[in-house]
Amino acid sequence: MKCDEIHPALAALFDDELQPADRKLVEGHLETCVQCRYKLAELSSLRRILRGGPTLRAPEALAKAVISDLQAQRHAGRGFRHHWAAAAMACTVLLAIGSLALWSWRSYDDAGRLERHDVISAHARSLLGGSPIAIASSDRHVVKPWLTARVPYAPAVREPAVEGFEFLGARIDVITDRPVATLVYKRRQHLINLFVWPTREKATTAAQYADERGYGMYRWVAKGLVYYLVSDLDAAELRTLQVQVCCGK
Ligand SMILES: [Zn+2]
Repeated sequence: MKCDEIHPALAALFDDELQPADRKLVEGHLETCVQCRYKLAELSSLRRILRGGPTLRAPEALAKAVISDLQAQRHAGRGFRHHWAAAAMACTVLLAIGSLALWSWRSYDDAGRLERHDVISAHARSLLGGSPIAIASSDRHVVKPWLTARVPYAPAVREPAVEGFEFLGARIDVITDRPVATLVYKRRQHLINLFVWPTREKATTAAQYADERGYGMYRWVAKGLVYYLVSDLDAAELRTLQVQVCCGK
């Protein structure tokens, strides 16, 4: 099956509403398709965010229209593809309401709080033992294809050209429930993670520093991707690496 046909079914899969045969079809596709797995992860991420935010009511007319449309589809007893189409429509409405909820939630919540919390947690996890790298290589021509085979976007991979910083390799980590490309650097005994994933923010932003729970981080946006560079290094040392990895050749 094609991705276009799978996308409407993801919400139903997520809600455990697919018939066994359909479920098998969709799961079979997910095993081979990184884009669709990513879409499913995004859906789960959105739900998690919504559960953490305030409850907003849909306008009554909209709620009525959606319910009556779903009832009409049910009475017509259409096949599963139509059921998926209805699920997809409900999902679109959920997304629209979700964006509204997110927007208003963010108006009183510091925009990146959840993001920063997950970024710090992922960084702390990487220090806990086990290996922080899944591919050990300081060659970006090796690391970049490894990453792009696993996430549907292409982060900039840059080797620092200053003394004292090492490029160790990369792994896939999880931030706000989605798989995220993670580059790993080192200075003396300090591990440094660079997390990268797509954002809806269009404008390129300069790096902004924040510290939280004993770690320092720089955040910036470039070419539709958001970057978080995190470590327990002091701000000036971390900035040296930030300049290298954000804007080199
Ligand atoms: Zn697909």
